[in-house]
Amino acid sequence: MVKEKEHSTPKGKKPLIVMKFGGTSVGNADRMQSVGEIIAEQSRNAEIVAVLSAMGGVTDMLIRAAREASRGDRKYWKGVRQELARRHREVADRLLSAAEQAIVLPRLAEQVGNLENLCSGFSLVREVTPRAMDTLSSLGEVMSATLMASILRSAGVAAEAVDAAELIVTDESFGNASPHFEETHAKTRQRLAPLRRQGTIPVVTGFRGATADGVCTTLGRGGSDYSATIIGAALDADEVWIWTDVDGVMSADPRLVPGARIIPEISYREAIELSFFGAKVLHPKTIHPVMKKKIPVWIKNSFNPACPGTKIAPVAKNEQPGVKAITSISDADLITMSGKDTLSFPRLATRVFNGLHLEDVTTLMVTQSSADNVLCFAIRDADLPRVKARLEKTFELEMLHEYVGILDVMPKIAIVVAIGENMKGTPGIAGRAFGALGRRGINIIAIAQGSSELSISFAVKSADVKDAVKAIHEEFQL
Ligand code: ADP
Ligand code: ASP
Ligand code: MG
Repeated sequence: MVKEKEHSTPKGKKPLIVMKFGGTSVGNADRMQSVGEIIAEQSRNAEIVAVLSAMGGVTDMLIRAAREASRGDRKYWKGVRQELARRHREVADRLLSAAEQAIVLPRLAEQVGNLENLCSGFSLVREVTPRAMDTLSSLGEVMSATLMASILRSAGVAAEAVDAAELIVTDESFGNASPHFEETHAKTRQRLAPLRRQGTIPVVTGFRGATADGVCTTLGRGGSDYSATIIGAALDADEVWIWTDVDGVMSADPRLVPGARIIPEISYREAIELSFFGAKVLHPKTIHPVMKKKIPVWIKNSFNPACPGTKIAPVAKNEQPGVKAITSISDADLITMSGKDTLSFPRLATRVFNGLHLEDVTTLMVTQSSADNVLCFAIRDADLPRVKARLEKTFELEMLHEYVGILDVMPKIAIVVAIGENMKGTPGIAGRAFGALGRRGINIIAIAQGSSELSISFAVKSADVKDAVKAIHEEFQL
């Protein structure tokens, strides 16, 4: 059985906790102040490394600025420049000492200047390259980390802003980079060692990394959660705490099910499954870096720090049988392909999945009907044009002769997923879920369950997603 990380922190030595604060947790001066207080308070009992997201909404604004600039529109990014300067300046005015303002205001001005230089370039050449986009889209993290370190110093707590481009070494997949763990571990330890020796709290930019040549990359939208566990694993931290705007991982997205409940403890596998199937509370890659070292990850609410939150551990304790949480992805399409009489199911599937692999597309659900060589799979709507083009190319000849066909592309599909490690061996779960959906007149378009029985997925119409999640949530009294 997988065991949790043994707490081997020697007596008298503080445990090391990496704490990540998301966009809503640092959305304005009041929120930044609360976060400063949480860090200061926690640093009495633990050694803290903070990881910060951009202030809420900033990343969206920066990405849109780059896109508009590349279309030649100078007005939009100039508005963003003003808004960016205003929001960060307001925090500095409210929370920084005069001495800190003298140091930090010129830095913030320089960072806003970077936006200006980049967008000016994009509008001149009418293009934004993925690598330039990463430098711009992660500027919000540079600004929020600069501010938070200064807020802490203004309150008498030793802190220093650190650019994660100096810590996290990634490949060159701009926009969705993957870390090279060995190099990252070495660099992170080396760069943070002097700060840790002096008792200075590193305030690290989330979301960002850099290639071995030092070119800025990003880890994908919502990637600051991932930054925190990458850094936690590199430093062999005792725990990683992800501070957000809800009390923990809940039995369903609270925006869809207002009565959703906090789950005190979930396993790594359950967390991975939940985040893969759309639970935004955790970036899908978050758990991977801490798995080997079995470092526990906590989800906590920065608006309600007294609430203990959810512990994500190698194995969850106090397990009850059955379904633990429901999640959903709304923007999916269902593709049905047939190998007709000529292409056997394995040959059809091999070529389809090879095509998906070449397009770097993940399937959300797969079902088969071998007797008539029919393969049905769900993908995200954003991937549809690439997938269709790839399948048409892969099967060009067969389609010409009508040996293979795309029978159907069903748009506006949602995948609703019931998750729980202890569903395994609990009979009747699928039946109860069917019944609950049927009683509400919700049509199930496709179903999939792996033999691991960690999750059961149902494809329904997007318009039914809210009712479907609620129905299953109610049925299992979550
Ligand atoms: P942050 O800015 O802190 O990274 P996110 O917005 O990325 O926060 O993630 C938190 C949000 O995730 C919550 O506000 C909630 O609406 C959403 N969410 C979706 N599914 C769940 C779930 N099962 N449990 C908790 N939150 C969820
Ligand atoms: N700021 C980035 C985003 O909005 C990363 C994050 O918040 O996790 O995607
Ligand atoms: Mg997030």
